[in-house]
Amino acid sequence: MFSRNELYEKILTRVRKPSQYIDREFNSIHKDPAQCKVKIALVFPDLYEIGMCNLGIQILYHIVNDMPQAVAERVFAPWVDMEEEMRHHHISLLSLESRTPVREFDIVGFSIQHELCFTTVLNLIDLAGLAVRASHRSEADPLVIAGGPATFNPEPLAPFMDAFAIGDGEELIQEIVQVVEKSKEENWSRGKILENLAHLEGIYIPSDFEVTYREEGTIASIKPLSSRKMVHKRLLKDLNVFPSPGSPIVPHTEVIHDRCNIEIMRGCTHGCRFCQAGIIYRPVRERSAQKLIHLSRETLQSTGYDELSLASLSTSDYSSIHEVLRQILRDHETPTLSVSLPSLRTDSFSVYLAEKVQEGGRSGLTFAPEAGTQRLRNIINKNISQEDIEKCMEVAFRQGWRKIKLYFMVGLPYETHEDVEGIVDLVKKIETLAREVLPPLGGKENPAYGKYFTPLYQVPYPFSVDSSK
Ligand code: SF4
Repeated sequence: MFSRNELYEKILTRVRKPSQYIDREFNSIHKDPAQCKVKIALVFPDLYEIGMCNLGIQILYHIVNDMPQAVAERVFAPWVDMEEEMRHHHISLLSLESRTPVREFDIVGFSIQHELCFTTVLNLIDLAGLAVRASHRSEADPLVIAGGPATFNPEPLAPFMDAFAIGDGEELIQEIVQVVEKSKEENWSRGKILENLAHLEGIYIPSDFEVTYREEGTIASIKPLSSRKMVHKRLLKDLNVFPSPGSPIVPHTEVIHDRCNIEIMRGCTHGCRFCQAGIIYRPVRERSAQKLIHLSRETLQSTGYDELSLASLSTSDYSSIHEVLRQILRDHETPTLSVSLPSLRTDSFSVYLAEKVQEGGRSGLTFAPEAGTQRLRNIINKNISQEDIEKCMEVAFRQGWRKIKLYFMVGLPYETHEDVEGIVDLVKKIETLAREVLPPLGGKENPAYGKYFTPLYQVPYPFSVDSSK
């Protein structure tokens, strides 16, 4: 008879990429769960190789583990072969660090990035051995709480969550830990814990509201069942109070973005009409330049990475970007350091920034014209001209950039065939500019749809796009 651990080890020899299920990565934290009053399973409902690139998970992981009374351990979705083995051998969902069954934690906290993860969330709750519906859970079960951008519209998941943490999680997760700690000291019921959590700004308890729907599935009414009438998103006013982790975990297997990630600001100054992130992360908040410079030193040293990403929704809009880049490049005068600026405006200032980055090492540039014609860019409030785009590309190619990624959306409301053809025309123009120095360009399409909280929500899909064209 094998112990659970021995069985798990045996399974690892039979599954694809077993390294995603073993811990002890560089900078991972190992506290003894038995010594901590509050245990949180931080669940990312996707594979390890995707979840490990999510800065939010790393931030929350370090905040909780810095609290002496609490421990946070990571949980990722197993790939289908692993899930099959686990279900076959009656092994429930386990945390990465101590391989503790998720149902033995006090809080199971999901970080949900987009709606496509919803079914994985339900599957993971089931794999953890918990009742999928919140109303079927017992007093002994952990609280299942969801946060992340996809929970700004919590209703699709409301029947399955005990609570939602909406908005910035840094302060909120500390307050949740404090409430749960007190509940254990005073032996509160599940109902009393939820009642106390409901007082925290950003917490939405679905059972405190009655939501009714119209026949076509839209919300008809929301009736508060307690004294709490409205839930406001949680807003972290000063990002500098909670720096990005200086010692992020370094995966020992390949992940999609294998590099240091530093968040330089949150929010975006632009108001693109389709963009949910631009709306839900308002207002814009910046980290201080000095803190970022210090953090980049600390992070590169503690991880050994040679690529640093200055992440935000629109990196060229960070007010001290010159200063930060200059200092980072001066600090790391090594030809191996590569700085990536993942979200740049399509304009000549961005090309200037690219030039600065190029001094340290060259990775790639990403721009998002979003639409192929000026008419549609005006409709979606993407304030860049055709001339800006062409000028920006031309300068970038002349500087020798060989890898440029462009984001376009197909299926935007008010789109016509001319707008789709405009994408082709624009790409052809860019290809002409690039032909002398770059290999042929490739492309793929994903249709757009209006997200809730944006002005384009529920505007109908314009027409059936023939992707072969
Ligand atoms: S610039 Fe980018 S992040 Fe900002 S609102 Fe537009 S699409 Fe959203």
